[in-house]
Amino acid sequence: MEKNKFYAGIDVGGTKIAGILATARGKIINRVKSPTPKDASPGKITRIISGLLEEMLYASGLRKKDLLTAGIGIPGVVDTKTGRIIRTPNMKISGSSFRNILEKKLKIKCLLGNDANLGMLGERWLGAARNTQNAVGIFIGTGIGAGIIANGALISGSHGAAAELGHMIIRDDGPKCSCGNIGCLEALAGRWAIERDIKQAAKRGEKTIITKLLDKKTDTLKSKILRKALKNHDNLTLEIVTAAAQQLGIACVSIRHIFDPEMIVLGGGVIEACGDFIIPIVKKKVEKDRFFSDIGECSIAPSELGDDAVVLGAVALAKTQL
Ligand SMILES: [Zn+2]
Repeated sequence: MEKNKFYAGIDVGGTKIAGILATARGKIINRVKSPTPKDASPGKITRIISGLLEEMLYASGLRKKDLLTAGIGIPGVVDTKTGRIIRTPNMKISGSSFRNILEKKLKIKCLLGNDANLGMLGERWLGAARNTQNAVGIFIGTGIGAGIIANGALISGSHGAAAELGHMIIRDDGPKCSCGNIGCLEALAGRWAIERDIKQAAKRGEKTIITKLLDKKTDTLKSKILRKALKNHDNLTLEIVTAAAQQLGIACVSIRHIFDPEMIVLGGGVIEACGDFIIPIVKKKVEKDRFFSDIGECSIAPSELGDDAVVLGAVALAKTQL
């Protein structure tokens, strides 16, 4: 019997690099992760990915020749044709021909994609958006990334920068965004925006248990802390997360008018932790849209793959190239 062939899926994240080996049907046979170095460079990231692949192959009793291709999710704008990284806001690996560097070291064909795009590809392959032809995924973590499937295919745009829904301007009198614009969805509903609003209110003297819950060392407001505060009916947190969810709902209404999707999948760390609070608010906004009242449904569904969406999407991408 001929031995199975496998694919690698890698998610290069701001805090960790995660990898899987999977079959063509998406069965995960091994998984590994490693922290992302603070001073990440294309060379350093490549060495880590190479090490992770070796580790997974060894642990699974496989060799390099059992591996067909690798898909790699990048937190930024990627030119999928040339494999160049155009922009990575939170990491210094932009401007590099990353695919060439990877292929030289790994000696297998590598395909690069934006992480949120791949997350949506994963959800469509094996997650919440299975069997859909038109679906949108919005992933709310520190920032907000997204992926759009239209007529069965991922939209990449003319520069690989399509579906950057986190930077749609929702309020032009809103707060400044990390991208330089004013009032982007991310600046209203991303985790960093929620953190900014809660900390500002606490500074003004508003009472919140968040000040007690914050990790004294890092001082970052993780999604898990938000969840705790919501569970404890912390008024300030309830108010600010509700406002963020409403902005997300407004964005979903507009997204629906552009793409008429069957489904909008919501995922990412904030949704993993606080989805049961946020999703009903988003649903309500979308259901109130009178335009679609006699046209049809658009369900608002939580991600089913969670942390595995990007790595499985990377495998889905890797599979397309054979
Ligand atoms: Zn922005």
